[in-house]
Amino acid sequence: MSIKGSCLCGEVRFEITGNFESFYLCYCKYCQKDTGSAHAANLFSSSATLQWMSGQSSVNTFQLPSTQHIKSFCACCGSALPSLQMNGKLLVVPAGSLDDALNMTPNARIFTSRCAPWQTGLEDIQSFSELPE
Ligand SMILES: [Zn+2]
Ligand SMILES: [Zn+2]
Repeated sequence: MSIKGSCLCGEVRFEITGNFESFYLCYCKYCQKDTGSAHAANLFSSSATLQWMSGQSSVNTFQLPSTQHIKSFCACCGSALPSLQMNGKLLVVPAGSLDDALNMTPNARIFTSRCAPWQTGLEDIQSFSELPE
């Protein structure tokens, strides 16, 4: 399987070849900070390969000191990008960075004990298919 992705500004483009083993929604505090939202949505693979098609020099990587929390992002637009973690053994791909359709749904929610308090009862709020009037 091969799947393409890019950042919001289009500077960085990449292609992943191989399969993902898992897809987790992470509700930990680090992921709340780094996404600015309720959770991260990351795909994990120990066998897939990552190839940067353009903009590799704009890929910045941040590791939170004394933790395993790593985030790669575009230096121009800040979008989340794939990263190699665990000394290159684990490829972590933010699901929202992909452009091609992904035929996989999340396997689990993790760190739900750290959920933001506003992350409950969301089934009950109104939904709009586009920006409401
Ligand atoms: Zn960008
Ligand atoms: Zn997390």
